[in-house]
Amino acid sequence: MDLFEYQGKQYFARYDIPVSPGGVATTVDEAVAQADAAGYPVVVKAQVQVGGRGKAGGIKLANDAAEARLHASNILGMDIKGHIVKRVWVERASDIAEEYYASFTLDRAAKKHLLMLSAEGGVEIESVAASNPDAIVMCHINPVDGLSLADARQACVDARLNPAAVDGAAEILVKLYRCFTEGDCDLAEINPLILRSDGGVHALDAKVSLDNNAAFRHPEWDEYRATEELDEREQLARTHDLQYIGLDGTVGIIANGAGLAMSTLDVVNQVGGSAANFLDIGGGANADMMTAALEVINFDQNVRSILINIFGGITRGEDVANGIVEALRRVDLRAPIVIRLDGTNAEQGRSILANAGIPESKLRSEPTMLEAARAAVALANEKNGTVA
Ligand code: GDP
Ligand code: MN
Repeated sequence: MDLFEYQGKQYFARYDIPVSPGGVATTVDEAVAQADAAGYPVVVKAQVQVGGRGKAGGIKLANDAAEARLHASNILGMDIKGHIVKRVWVERASDIAEEYYASFTLDRAAKKHLLMLSAEGGVEIESVAASNPDAIVMCHINPVDGLSLADARQACVDARLNPAAVDGAAEILVKLYRCFTEGDCDLAEINPLILRSDGGVHALDAKVSLDNNAAFRHPEWDEYRATEELDEREQLARTHDLQYIGLDGTVGIIANGAGLAMSTLDVVNQVGGSAANFLDIGGGANADMMTAALEVINFDQNVRSILINIFGGITRGEDVANGIVEALRRVDLRAPIVIRLDGTNAEQGRSILANAGIPESKLRSEPTMLEAARAAVALANEKNGTVA
């Protein structure tokens, strides 16, 4: 779950990471009140989950209440790359000497946490990585040992931060690492981390992504859930308890088991297609689950074909087949289905599907995952007007 900047800063505050004094507002009057409370000059910042807000006019400096009012009224309701601004964060303006970048993520390949630190902050880290990769210090952290203050200092020195910033930045890195681990983040990023003209160091921005798998030990995350902005497909999936992630391809995917769903994505890619989603219907592939899954996929206007990949273990082939037949009665699908049904009682399942009177143009069965993926991709491309 991605947090807004103001929520990220509130989360940082729990770990004692310094941020500018400020507050969130949903109306112009509230914004002015927050500005009065923070003390002028202030910065009025659009709260949307997309980078480059400054360039889009979503970050403005205000020297007095009249300017704060003007900027807040311009920014609230603004459309930034398709995101409508519903809230602004108003904070005391900072006198910036230098801007740095700092983040923690998990490096899955190395099975370690990764600190990325750069003296070139304030711009997208991807562009630094492209133009000047040596300017980014990458430092793996053994999760058992954690990050010591000495290691953090060394990273700051290696990244060539201003010597005046090293102590302050190192302390923040240690706190940010605690926030990342104890706070169960997938990403904890500060860009920019600033050195002020008075020598202090603090976080000017906050990008925090929480690990949903840890939600059970964080009742306090409920308040973030309330403001979460999911796309319509994700919302629908959530109400049906489906493990769904929207992607931007054309082949809708349904599989039982996260591993199988991921392999299905890979195979679709391998044969030249692109997945419209990740969708794991889990163990019990009954008619209700299948109906919900097909409804969510049907909602996606980009979907040109649907690949159902089921390997029956505890789930039995005839249950899956009956579920699909029933689901097809309930949902009027826009795209044809290709199914690969294997595992427990797959024969029975396939014969149920073959004898259900569903035309081949709507549903066809393929014996292997690869052949099913090829067929689904061919259908998707055919409808796109390109010949597979
Ligand atoms: P993003 O571009 O959407 O990530 O927004 P940020 O919060 O990172 O702000 C973008 C840029 O605005 C920063 O890199 C700063 O250069 C500038 N900025 C933001 N807040 C302040 C401030 O308090 N004082 C000054 N001088 N500049 C600021
Ligand atoms: Mn930023």
